[in-house]
Formats: sequence, structure tokens, C-alpha cells
Amino acid sequence: MPKTQPRSPKSSRPSVRGVPFEVVTSRRRRLHVPHRSRHVPASEWRDYPRPVPEAWALIARDKGFRVHGRIRDRYHVALECRTCGGLTAHKSFTLRTAQPRCGACAEADLADAARAAGLTFLRRDGRNHHYGLYRAACGHVLRRQFEFIERVAARKTDVRCEKCLLKRERDEATRRGWERLGRDPQGSANYRLYRHSCGNVQRIARVNLSWGQVQCASCGGAWNSNPSFIYLLRIEMTSRGLHLLKLGFSKTPMKRMKHQLGLPRSAKMDLVRVLPMASGHVARAQEAALHATLRRHHPDVVVPPEVYAGILNVRSEVYEAFAFDLIMRHLDRIEAAHPPT
Ligand SMILES: [Zn+2]
Ligand SMILES: [Zn+2]
Ligand SMILES: [Zn+2]
Repeated sequence: MPKTQPRSPKSSRPSVRGVPFEVVTSRRRRLHVPHRSRHVPASEWRDYPRPVPEAWALIARDKGFRVHGRIRDRYHVALECRTCGGLTAHKSFTLRTAQPRCGACAEADLADAARAAGLTFLRRDGRNHHYGLYRAACGHVLRRQFEFIERVAARKTDVRCEKCLLKRERDEATRRGWERLGRDPQGSANYRLYRHSCGNVQRIARVNLSWGQVQCASCGGAWNSNPSFIYLLRIEMTSRGLHLLKLGFSKTPMKRMKHQLGLPRSAKMDLVRVLPMASGHVARAQEAALHATLRRHHPDVVVPPEVYAGILNVRSEVYEAFAFDLIMRHLDRIEAAHPPT
């Protein structure tokens, strides 16, 4: 995956949020139409065969466009961008009194931001102009806010595919003898509904199922006796602009992880993954090897301790949010090589 190569953060990228356009495809060439005209049926964007006033042609040239022709009615023109060649509909009034924007260039900006975020831009969301549809590296289509994609591109956060997460939760349950049926009927975000192999259905905190610390209320079975775990936590502290990953090793399920890590109450913590290991020795060795690999081959994902000093009471083993995919792939590899006993 090319994602492991360092990308230059594009903090100077102009925001693409405030440039909503729709695309009309019924014409010979794609036509970008300002979002405020989205109620206009595509069929109305037909040619308006009248001559283009000389003055408009001159203004358009000064503003980086060519008047492709008049369109829809006497108030509108189709402007061809001299940078990208794309067509955008504008009022001639806008052309004369303001700097018209090119819809195709705006779309290219969205595609650039997506690429920097490791995604492929597919199209704008038809219902909400703050959202776009993207294809993730896993192949699934994600719907995300443009603003969020910019934050991912700037490496301030990571993008996670819900469909892959769901699959992971299902697999996690299966390995522990349960079937993940669905969300918590009582509406808690931390619980899911599971069915044990004996047929009994019960609510279980997902974190407990991760650690294997769960007993079937009907048959009493399935308490996990794995002695050691490798875990991945994501930690968010919006007030401090922190979004980190903590990769660790534990001999016992950490019931009070927040407390043990010294995290303030305001921090949000999410146990992303737990790999039960056959022995503490194996878990420790695998975890140490992974830290060494990350430090050696991906030094850009290692967060310097001064960033989280006073927030997390550890000295190392903390990684950047954008290393999520990378670390998950390494955990996949470890899991495949060390199936739970
Ligand atoms: Zn353009
Ligand atoms: Zn996915
Ligand atoms: Zn049972």
C-alpha cells in the first residue's frame, strides 16, 4: 500500500467546502451548475442561441474563462475554464460583477483532497452539499463531509470504514463463540446484541466481548481464559486537538483503561481491537516486534512523547491517527499467525 510513504501535509490547501456545484449530464459536455440553481430541471440548461456580446467575451477572458455560449435564457452563460476546460453555468450578471468560479476546478480540488486522504472521490452527495461519496481502499463507498476529508488529508484524523468495522465485530464475536445480531435494543452505543452458540441471546458490552470477558447467562460457557492481549486504542481529546492511537500489551483485560493510562475524564477512548494471545511471552514478543517495525520503517507515525506528556502516563507506543490502516494490517498479520487457542 502506498499509504505508508510519507505524504506532505497540504495545510495550505484552500478550503473546498464553500463551493457547491451540481453537475448536469444531459448536455453534450458536463455542465457545472451552482448549487443554488439545483431546483432547475436539467432540460432547462439548453442552448440559448443568441450572439454573445463582445463586452462579455472580453470580461470572461480577463477572468480566466471563455464564453462557450449563452444558455437557458437571456440571463445565463456557459463559461469554459481556461485552466481546466470545464464548463460552468453562471448568470451574465455574475460574470460582469464578480469572479465566477469554475465548477470543474472545484471538483478537481475535491478529488485532490480525497487522494491526499487515501480515498477516491466519486461524486457529491445529491442531498447534502456538505457531503461527498468516496471509495475507500477496502473498496467500500463512504459518505463523508468535505470538511472531514480535509482533516484526514491534513493527517489530523483517520477515516474508518463502518462496513469493515462491522465485519470485524462479527468475526470477533464468532471467534469467541457468539454471533453478533445487531445493535443494542436498549440503544447504548457500547453494547451489542449477541447470540451464544447455545442459542441464548443477550446484551454484551462490546469491550467485554473484545477481551473475551463474558459469560453466557444461560449455559455459563465461553469465558475466555487467554492470558494475554495485544490491544489498539484510539484516544481523542478534542480540547487539546489530540487524536492518537495507543498500541499495547496487557496481561489482564483492563477494566479501567482510562484510569490506568492516566487519561483525563474528558478524553474519549475507543478500544478498537484486541488480539488474545496464547501466552504472555508470545504477546509481549509480537507487540515489541511491531513497535520496532513501526519505529524503523514508519518513523513518521510515531508521536513524540512531548505531545502527550501530562495526558497519557506512558512514554512510548503512541502513534498518529493516520497510522490506523497500517497498524490494523500488522495486527491482521499477527492474528493470522497466532490464532486464538
Ligand atoms: Zn476549471
Ligand atoms: Zn470497508
Ligand atoms: Zn450459552
